[in-house]
Amino acid sequence: MNKQSGAVLVLSGPSGAGKTSLIKNIADDIGDFYFSISTTTRPMREGEQEGVHYHFVNEEEFKKDIEADNFLEYAVVHGNHYGTSLKPVREALSAGKLVLFDIDVQGNTAINSRLGDITTSVFITPPTLSELKKRLQNRSTDSEEVMKGRLKMAKLEIQRISEYDYVIINDDFEESSEILKLIAKAARMKIPSEDINCFIQEWEDIEQ
Ligand code: 5GP
Repeated sequence: MNKQSGAVLVLSGPSGAGKTSLIKNIADDIGDFYFSISTTTRPMREGEQEGVHYHFVNEEEFKKDIEADNFLEYAVVHGNHYGTSLKPVREALSAGKLVLFDIDVQGNTAINSRLGDITTSVFITPPTLSELKKRLQNRSTDSEEVMKGRLKMAKLEIQRISEYDYVIINDDFEESSEILKLIAKAARMKIPSEDINCFIQEWEDIEQ
């Protein structure tokens, strides 16, 4: 089947699971992809850049985007608003790209209900809660209070891993990268149901 349209790969997991590093590591090996840059009301962290890591906006601007129906999905995570812009995703999908989302479990549910037939989802986690804590401490970008919130959230999110197609326990970075590469390649092969229906019609090319 000649596949023209794009596909979606959702990556979820606690901050500190290594999602960003894994994506960077496999970027050259998974073909043409678009990484969805979310809009958020959370303050910019040190080392982050507007338009690279997020589009940073205030509450009012975020509300305007909701009212204008600009989001494919949006949610409150750790007390801040996060949203996925619809337009660039639509464009990337029409261009046949694999669209990568780094979104939370609520986002995964929303994307699955809207784009389920072309979506593959992966939950990425460190092997244990204590390892996650260690990684967050080493990263030291968060206050003690924020870190506590992240650990609490991680305990809640891990309860929902059965909602994902795959789980990667990111213990060995190179091994995890290889697994993610395979998943990304397979994700690209997902076919929208309307294309399948067209294919079936074309396939029945003789009268019985
Ligand atoms: P952080 O503030 O550490 O960058 O991200 C916090 C959480 O928000 C992560 O779990 C991340 O996956 C999630 N997140 C980032 N962007 C979005 C988004 O557009 N929608 C949803 N639902 N979650 C998001």
